[in-house]
Formats: sequence, C-alpha cells, structure tokens
Amino acid sequence: MTKYRICLLPGDGVGPEVSEATLQVLNALADYLDSKLDIRFIEGGDNYAQRYGQPLPEEAILAIRDSDACLKGPVGATAMDVTVRLRQMFDLYANVRPIKSYSNVQSLSDNVDFVIVRENTEDLYKGFEFELDDTTVALRVITKKSCLRIAEYAFRLARERNNKKSVVAVHKANVMRKTCGTFLAACREVARSHEEINFSDMLVDTAAMNLIRRPDSFDVIVTTNVFGDILSDEAAQIVGGLGMAPSANIGENFALFEPVHGSAPDIAGLGVANPLSMILSAKMMLEWIGSTRNDDKFRKAAAFLQRAVERTLLQGVKTPDIGGTSKTTDVASAVRESLSLGVRSLA
Ligand code: ATP
Repeated sequence: MTKYRICLLPGDGVGPEVSEATLQVLNALADYLDSKLDIRFIEGGDNYAQRYGQPLPEEAILAIRDSDACLKGPVGATAMDVTVRLRQMFDLYANVRPIKSYSNVQSLSDNVDFVIVRENTEDLYKGFEFELDDTTVALRVITKKSCLRIAEYAFRLARERNNKKSVVAVHKANVMRKTCGTFLAACREVARSHEEINFSDMLVDTAAMNLIRRPDSFDVIVTTNVFGDILSDEAAQIVGGLGMAPSANIGENFALFEPVHGSAPDIAGLGVANPLSMILSAKMMLEWIGSTRNDDKFRKAAAFLQRAVERTLLQGVKTPDIGGTSKTTDVASAVRESLSLGVRSLA
C-alpha cells in the first residue's frame, strides 16, 4: 500500500499548540484514509537554535528530502533560516494563499473567495544585500523563467477553481520597469495561451486599495514575492485575520504547507491560538496529495475537512481572535467531532 510520508515541524510560539490541534484532526481521518498518512516529527526554529546553535538540523533536511510533503508550524526570528531556506532549497516556487470568508466570522464582505499566488523564490527576498560605506543596497532578482512558471500556475488554478475564471497580475511596472516589466510581459505571454481566462493587470497600490474596496471582485491574483507577502497579510484581515489564513508552498514534486501567521509570541502558551490557519493548511495538503498522486480519497477528505471547519464556525466554536471564547483545544475537538460525523455518514 502506498503511504505518504509527511514531516511535521511544530515550530515556535503557538506552533506546538496549533500543530497538536492539527494532528488530532488528521488522526480523525486516519481510518477513512486507510492509514496512508505516515507523519513523523522533525525539529527546527528558534527554540531548536537556542538549544543546539542552528535553526534547521541536517536530520530535518534529510527527513524532508525523504518525504512527500511537509506540514510546518510557524517559526519566529529564524524564519529566514528555516522557512525561506526550505522554499529555496526545494524550489517551492508557488506560494498559494486562499482568502475566503466564512459564515459567523466577521468579514468585509460575505462573498470573498480568492487566491493570492505569489512567486516564492526570487525578488528582494533572495537576500542579496550589501553595504557600500554608509549606503545599503538590496538586489531585486526577477527572472523570465520564474515569472512564466508562476503565471502558468496561476492560470491553471483559475481554470480549475470556479466560474469567475479571472487572473489579475499585480505589479509596479510603471516604476520598476525592468523587474516588474519582465513579470508583466511574462503574464501577458501566458495569458495568450489561456484565452478562456479573463486577464487584467493592476498596480500594487491600486490592488492594496481594491482589496479593501471590493474584495469580492477577485478570483486569482498573481504577483511577485514581496508584494505577495504584504498583500496576503492585508487580505487575511479582510476575512477575520491571520488565524484564518492557510498557505501552501508548491514545487514540482514536493510541497510545504503552513499557516501564514508567525509564532504569535504574545499569545503563546495561553491556549487561545486559532488553529484553523494550520488545520486549513493541512486541508490544502490533503487536496494536493489527492490531485498530484491521483488519490480520490484524499480529495474527498479535504472536502470533508473544509465542511467540518465551516460547521465548527457556524456552531460558534471560535477562538478570541475571531470573536469567540473557545480555546485552541475546543476548536480542534469540534472539528474532529464534525469530521467523524461526516465520515461516518458515508460509511
Ligand atoms: P513573529 O515574530 O513570529 O512574526 P509576530 O507576533 O510578529 O510573530 P504573528 O505571529 O504573525 O507576528 O502575529 C501577528 C498578530 O496576529 C499577533 O497579535 C498574534 O497574536 C496574532 N495571531 C497570529 N497568529 C494567530 C493565531 N493563530 N491565532 C490568534 N491570533 C494570532
């Protein structure tokens, strides 16, 4: 029987709490998935670095190399050495961040449902920075190859998602003519081979405004690394905040799933962190396994999990960040229960 090997890196701050909640939820699906998920823990992040002097041990990298996917909690100050390093090491070129409104969670509009597709390996986050006397310089690296690849991913996603079938390329090509110019030209080139998709482009400042003004008008946004990073935190606030924001880092044959938020040290250990960002990241992982390994049960499990999250929120089981009084563990139990009911009804 094929088993899918998953590395689970709990991380720092609220990471262990939301990871435990997510693990419980995945365990509730174990029977339905014929125990095909083989989850092994790996270490890394701030706490690990404090104890052992480095943030990402070689054993963790080897375990990840030997797995199908990684589910990662947030790490704190070592994010550059862990998260960004893994994205670059495994060429996880597409950072996919769905933004969706849920019933019973305050949102700017009831019909928000879009995805930010962010190029994940280039731009200012390459980390090429220099000092020249008292001047500091950062290099913005944008290659045509990466732009074509991310644009292609965004158009394929728009084709599969729903009936809106639209892609907006977000850039600042009127000022950064070379780097954003390359990105925009690549998006236009890819658009020509996807005539069924409505393509348009938007300046990043206009996009920041329109996310607030008319968030329900978007379907797929494709953009470069830094703009995507900033816009996706803004977008998460539209639908209830970082506790509701999952993400995937997708490569050719491997992917890493993680909540968008950081380690949230201000609430770590209080038991009130919203686990839904990580639970929904695990849902994206099930979906990804389902489609890349052509395993229908995983696709269905992802759909069950989505519905279980929706039911949990409708029941009012919510952490304080989204207006509730529940604990992290209450949310995990409610999702688990709802999931078991859903799975049993199929049996
Ligand atoms: P880091 O240094 O790791 O980036 P941070 O506090 O600067 O941490 P985030 O961790 O992203 O950045 O947190 C930003 C705010 O969002 C904090 O007030 C935090 O409590 C809140 N927050 C983040 N994640 C969650 C969560 N899962 N549940 C509830 N609140 C959260």
